[in-house]
Amino acid sequence: MKSPAEARRILQQLEAQHPGADTALHHRNAFELLVATILSAQSTDARVNLVTPELFRRYPDARRLAKATREVLEPLIHATGFFRQKSRSLLGMAQALVDDHGGEVPADMKALTALPGVGRKTANVVLGHALGVPGLPVDRHVLRVSNRIGLAESDDAEEVERQLGAVLPKDRWTLSSDVLILHGREICRPKPLCEKCAVRTECDYYQSHTP
Ligand code: SF4
Repeated sequence: MKSPAEARRILQQLEAQHPGADTALHHRNAFELLVATILSAQSTDARVNLVTPELFRRYPDARRLAKATREVLEPLIHATGFFRQKSRSLLGMAQALVDDHGGEVPADMKALTALPGVGRKTANVVLGHALGVPGLPVDRHVLRVSNRIGLAESDDAEEVERQLGAVLPKDRWTLSSDVLILHGREICRPKPLCEKCAVRTECDYYQSHTP
């Protein structure tokens, strides 16, 4: 496993390779990002961005969304897949925000993960990108890339979040996650493009798979 100094250097190199890394989900506030992140499960950010303009126009806040019906909501989010389950999550989440948080999105991991349809990854996305609280979302890309490089060593997202959090400064958590996600999408794919990778000389996978 990499030391904190090595981890910081590796992330700096990856930041340089992926300037401007950020969530690709379009949003203007924490509520919109929460909705978009729930919709992004088993979907693509591009597909979510296609449906959210109309969704946010009709339901700009939790109070309005809590009053929606599944019959109206499901066709609006159909293109993102799993629309029945997602409409249940969105309606439950909005109602819980109204009932328990005055319609606002709480800046707190425990309160966020108590909302219907909101897991740790979603909560971390919203905390880090819209609420100013350091969050380290671990998706399948972060899981794959961090294990390959040697920044983490586990198949469990929560454990990888803990390991990365231990070697990276808190104020870099969100950006580090964005950078690792982008690196996983563009370079360190399931079949990795190691010759294009800025950190191959420090990568455990590269060292052990290169003659
Ligand atoms: S060297 Fe290859 S395996 Fe390692 S991080 Fe880069 S792309 Fe991924």
